[in-house]
Amino acid sequence: MFVRRASSAWLAIALALTACGSASPAVTATPAPARGRADASPARLAPEPADRVAERVDAIPDAPATEPALPPDRRFYGGRGLRHRLIHFTFDDGPRAATTPRLLDHLARHRVRATFFLVTRALDDPRRRDTARATVRRMAAEGHTIGLHGHDHRGFRNLSDRDLREQLRYGGQLIADVTARAPHFVRPPYGGRDARTDRVLARLGLRQVLWSMTPERPRNDGQEAIVSQFRAQLAAREGEPFPGTVVLMHDTRPWVVEAIPRILRHLRRRNCQILREGGQLWDVVPTLEALYGLSDAEVAGRQDALRGELAPRCAAATGDEDDTEP
Ligand SMILES: [Zn+2]
Repeated sequence: MFVRRASSAWLAIALALTACGSASPAVTATPAPARGRADASPARLAPEPADRVAERVDAIPDAPATEPALPPDRRFYGGRGLRHRLIHFTFDDGPRAATTPRLLDHLARHRVRATFFLVTRALDDPRRRDTARATVRRMAAEGHTIGLHGHDHRGFRNLSDRDLREQLRYGGQLIADVTARAPHFVRPPYGGRDARTDRVLARLGLRQVLWSMTPERPRNDGQEAIVSQFRAQLAAREGEPFPGTVVLMHDTRPWVVEAIPRILRHLRRRNCQILREGGQLWDVVPTLEALYGLSDAEVAGRQDALRGELAPRCAAATGDEDDTEP
């Protein structure tokens, strides 16, 4: 039942995106939460010790994950081939009590909506689940998108078809129980995928999301380095014919969370410069559907609105405003 509902939703999204390019139908196409018990065996999905959670962070590949050429149904969302300066932030591996709520505070203050790819074991672990569920409920209430990142962060290619299906069905059910909405999006841990895992995910009606930019490095090189890497990467993208991007970061890392306000202030400051120089502003879009579904006319409309909103703020800002402001 879960699978059939999810497949219908996937079809609805595919049709909505290919037929009219609108950003909104995908949201309304979300199925009601499936109430049937997922057929995962609890024994297979045992919780991990809480003291290991902090170690559970991705090793980020040197280069962004390779995104295959987009098939007609656009099964992959990775930030390739986007002709406009659209940007969407995504956060992996949470929720984590020590860091995720603080990130949500930052995003709310800057009115940015993002996508969170959850390791769903946190929602099932007796020692963490109440806090984790409250955090995920807050994510949904504040308009963020919630996707799957596996139940225990094992690479999908290391799981059998059956185990992969179980993980994702069970994780999807946990999310649906908290948010009343079944997830559509999945990011494979480490970006690891192949034709076999693609097939399993497609049959579950899930759309894969990779990325095309990350200012993080595998080791903690501090928020200063993240901010300067973000600035350099953003500047590089402005010179490319396809500047739009999906940004990958981790809400489990405190130095990443603390870099976010500075990154968002940098984006605003850069937009003030672009406003003076002329050119297309950076548009932080609220959903993955908007990233891929906006028509040229809709992008132009958002640009007009952005200019109107920024003009008085940029005029009021002092010339030496920097990204260290509170
Ligand atoms: Zn991860």
